[in-house]
Amino acid sequence: VIRMEGVQKWYDHFQVLKDIDLEVHRGERIVICGPSGSGKSTLIRCINQLERHQKGRITVNGVELGPHHRQLDTVRREVGMVFQSFNLFPHLTVLENCMLAPMKVRGTTKADAKATALRYLERVRIPEQADKYPGQLSGGQQQRVAIARSLCMNPKVMLFDEPTSALDPEMVKEVLDTMIGLAEDGMTMLCVTHEMGFAKSVAHRVIFMDRGEIVEQNTPEAFFSAPKSERTRSFLGQIL
Ligand code: ATP
Ligand code: MG
Repeated sequence: VIRMEGVQKWYDHFQVLKDIDLEVHRGERIVICGPSGSGKSTLIRCINQLERHQKGRITVNGVELGPHHRQLDTVRREVGMVFQSFNLFPHLTVLENCMLAPMKVRGTTKADAKATALRYLERVRIPEQADKYPGQLSGGQQQRVAIARSLCMNPKVMLFDEPTSALDPEMVKEVLDTMIGLAEDGMTMLCVTHEMGFAKSVAHRVIFMDRGEIVEQNTPEAFFSAPKSERTRSFLGQIL
């Protein structure tokens, strides 16, 4: 679904991504971890075209993205994205948040968009919040709305950038459980997270990034029990 080949990105003279090669296959679930500033968010943001890379190729669902041509349509249709800060529209209700993109981008009718929105709000187990505004919900509930909103577009792949790191501890579990549910349904997922329990239970592959590079990747079992690189060992030593 996603292929990155030799992707490089600079901010001025600072190279944030150095020669990234990464493939995400249909049904695959990948967790990315690594120290602050290692380029994890930038990698995710290049895939969904919030940032542009300067060298290399990124293809999503067979469509090549830049560096010289943006393909915002492809990304909006095929890629769901959940951020650390929930990024819901504060002036729209939960239901309206979920109906907006399908109506605007896909041309779905209002009735269909509403039915789909209610179905996914049901799935993240907050249908009773449909008519509230985001500000009236807890952080965990807002994040579940953000997930439901992405699902309403029927994406081929879901990207998550530290979806639980802004949440109070007691709300982390409800969001992780929602993500585990998605995994069980076979969703293709690329998740930046330091929730290592989540990585162990759902990831097919764990990737460790440091200083703009993919230093190491492996199955969760091998990654946690026998990290190959010294940098990975020292990182795991700090977070586990
Ligand atoms: P964290 O774990 O703290 O979220 P990260 O791995 O997601 O870190 P990025 O946000 O991708 O890291 O940032 C990688 C590097 O790029 C950092 O050194 C950061 O300071 C730099 N950077 C990010 N965004 C910009 C920007 N818009 N302009 C200049 N430098 C940037
Ligand atoms: Mg980040």
